[in-house]
Amino acid sequence: MTTDRLTKISLQENSQPRTVVITSGKGGVGKTTTTANLGMSIARLGYRVALIDADIGLRNLDLLLGLENRVLYTAMEVFNGECRLDQALITDKRWNNLTVLCISKNRQRYNLTRKNMLLLVDSIRARNYDFILIDCPAGIDVGFLNAIAPAEEAIIVTTPEITSIRDADRVAGLLEASGIYQVKLLVNRVRADMIQKNDMMSVRDVQEMLGISLLGAIPEDKSVIVSTNRGEPLVLRKRLTISGVAFENAARRLVGRKDFLTDLETETSNQKGMFNRIQKFLSTQLLPPFEE
Ligand code: ADP
Ligand code: MG
Repeated sequence: MTTDRLTKISLQENSQPRTVVITSGKGGVGKTTTTANLGMSIARLGYRVALIDADIGLRNLDLLLGLENRVLYTAMEVFNGECRLDQALITDKRWNNLTVLCISKNRQRYNLTRKNMLLLVDSIRARNYDFILIDCPAGIDVGFLNAIAPAEEAIIVTTPEITSIRDADRVAGLLEASGIYQVKLLVNRVRADMIQKNDMMSVRDVQEMLGISLLGAIPEDKSVIVSTNRGEPLVLRKRLTISGVAFENAARRLVGRKDFLTDLETETSNQKGMFNRIQKFLSTQLLPPFEE
């Protein structure tokens, strides 16, 4: 697993990065958590990744990554000619192939336009990244439209609740209307115990309701909150967490690799408890087999 994680993939010079927007419609369902963890996982797989926090005014991607003290410049200063783009692209202190760009430090100075966003992402594309992930604001107004404008792909995050699913469905329609056809679903805050008691929709139910192919499912897990507070993405934690494994699997699917840790027959005795929990979780989410 470790060697696989650390394998540096030979990056294709001048190839176009995949630009993926992480969106949901509803707020608070886990877009920023997903952007931080997928971004970090993909970087650890050896890809060059740029994360854009397009949630202006409520920016918190830098906090989740523990980079808040390093945000000296944002895209606003770049647009105003006060700094260069590379000064606003903050490099992660642990993985130097991961950078983060915030659009604005405060809402007052918010004058982002669709055209600016397209120009900004074009300049980032010219910098030899493999992936650009855009953390979208909640809602479906102008902030959402600006954030999706440069994207060719989308990940819709939803929880297994009817309000979130309805918003996800509306967003799916809007993405299609904007010409974004490569859309994947990530179901967050899944509770195996509630699904078993029929108190929560299963991941498969959610997926069938929306008719979007599944990138992954993340359990409800208090270590997500601990990670947020520490500014350390889950996928970096030395102790395996069930949500960390789930995010890593989603990242592997996004880049076209097979899930790991699904061979649950070969656990060692001290890993048993965790492996049992993962096995239980995987059996409730009923993920379809990975297709290459
Ligand atoms: P959004 O960006 O969609 O508004 P966030 O990623 O900021 O959502 O998450 C909202 C809150 O939910 C945060 O406090 C986060 O820690 C918590 N959260 C997200 N995913 C999970 C999860 N799988 N388990 C527990 N808490 C979660
Ligand atoms: Mg957010």
